[in-house]
Amino acid sequence: GDLAEAMNVSVTEVISKGFGLGMMVSINQRLDADAITLLADEFDFEVEFMEDIEEEFNLETEDSEEDLVSRPPIVTIMGHVDHGKTSLLDYIRQANVIAGEAGGITQHIGAYQITTGDGNEITFLDTPGHEAFTAMRARGAQVTDLVVVVVAADDQVMPQTIEAINHARAAEVPMVVAINKIDRDTANPDKIMAQLAEQGVQVEQYGGSVQCELISALNGTNVDELLEKIQLEADLLELTANPDRYAVGTVVEARLDKGRGVVATVLVQNGTIEEGDAYVVGLTSGRVRAMFNERDERVKVAGPASPVQILGLSDAPEVGDRLVVMEDERDAREIASKRLQLIREQTLHQRRHVTLADLSRRMALGEITNLNIVVKGDVGGSVEALSDALLKLSNDEVAVQIVHSGVGAITESDVMLAVASDAVIVGFQVRPVAGVRSIAEREEIDIQLYSVIYDAIADVRDALEGLLEPEQ
Ligand code: GDP
Repeated sequence: GDLAEAMNVSVTEVISKGFGLGMMVSINQRLDADAITLLADEFDFEVEFMEDIEEEFNLETEDSEEDLVSRPPIVTIMGHVDHGKTSLLDYIRQANVIAGEAGGITQHIGAYQITTGDGNEITFLDTPGHEAFTAMRARGAQVTDLVVVVVAADDQVMPQTIEAINHARAAEVPMVVAINKIDRDTANPDKIMAQLAEQGVQVEQYGGSVQCELISALNGTNVDELLEKIQLEADLLELTANPDRYAVGTVVEARLDKGRGVVATVLVQNGTIEEGDAYVVGLTSGRVRAMFNERDERVKVAGPASPVQILGLSDAPEVGDRLVVMEDERDAREIASKRLQLIREQTLHQRRHVTLADLSRRMALGEITNLNIVVKGDVGGSVEALSDALLKLSNDEVAVQIVHSGVGAITESDVMLAVASDAVIVGFQVRPVAGVRSIAEREEIDIQLYSVIYDAIADVRDALEGLLEPEQ
């Protein structure tokens, strides 16, 4: 589907070309690089891969065996909602502060590292649940070494428990089970173990190989034992990294801080990042101006498996983006600008946001089930009348939704709202304020202006019924 859109041809054409080449592909199927190149070639397109850009700069240097030293495991906690993921993360964060350290980990920066009683370090991704994990995996970033599946002993194996198990399996990372809330009177860990067995997860207590600890995240009961099991499992993985190379890491969180500007939390996966290093991350490049750890202390260096907040980015990267430190800042800048160029070229081929003219094609592709509209008009009465009439145009295939309506000219914030909700803007007896047209064009937001209510309704109706001619 994405490939078809990028080439601006129909999905059926791509599928039948694939068929001709002996490839059975479906609309949602992920294609590998070879398949993409082959198919694109059939349509006279040349494919350029983002990774190729990095390879030009030879970023993927292999580490030789003698440079590798062991590194802490990176752990994600998953499980059903309310089973105690956050409580466990909070307990571990508070209970395991390095001796003599002031303050402890107060910051939530997306990941933190603890030192256990035995002096082992473990890094936890501080975003419980499956969202962050899948977001990263979807971008090809494999950050987690190990998954802790939390199940509440007073509940049962739930859909998201099974999902967590499946995520761990799909990522081919080992899991450790934490049966939580054993302080509760109604706790029944045996039942949970039996239910896990039904899912093919045989815990050690049942003679299986999956380590399992009965804990209370509330009281901290057996949490140290859980950490030991995590460490044991991690030892089997023999995790290593080379601290003496330029750093490679993954963005686990990015935010805009009032005082500090764009702050990104990067989990260093290999190498060591230092203040002053030149880097590229996503479409942004620059130098590390300052770094802070999860205790908000300024640090000059950060090695493998440590989370670190990086300040001074010119633009916010996305979760899952890879950060790569480069020897030469110019190389970093060149990679960023090549990537930007690729994305520009891509968006030229694909209209990201819905337009009335494009609606029926995208409905046919099954891409659209909602038509979001921002309505602006000159007086309250007409805005209301137009909104009501547009809402009534909903049919079996597409539901019309008015995401915003109001009186007055079309402003930048209307366009931004349309961007956020993938909406078209319908204006009645109003115009965009100065400069807004060009913003809308840049953001590819469709603005339709009318002086007769009936015309607006007719256009939207025609679009929904597939009667509007697509723009060429
Ligand atoms: P999450 O949705 O998986 O992150 O679950 P939370 O950590 O938010 O926990 C959900 C609820 O269960 C909260 O009210 C917690 O206080 C409670 N809870 C978590 N762990 C325990 C526990 O070990 N014992 C008891 N009694 N309650 C717990």
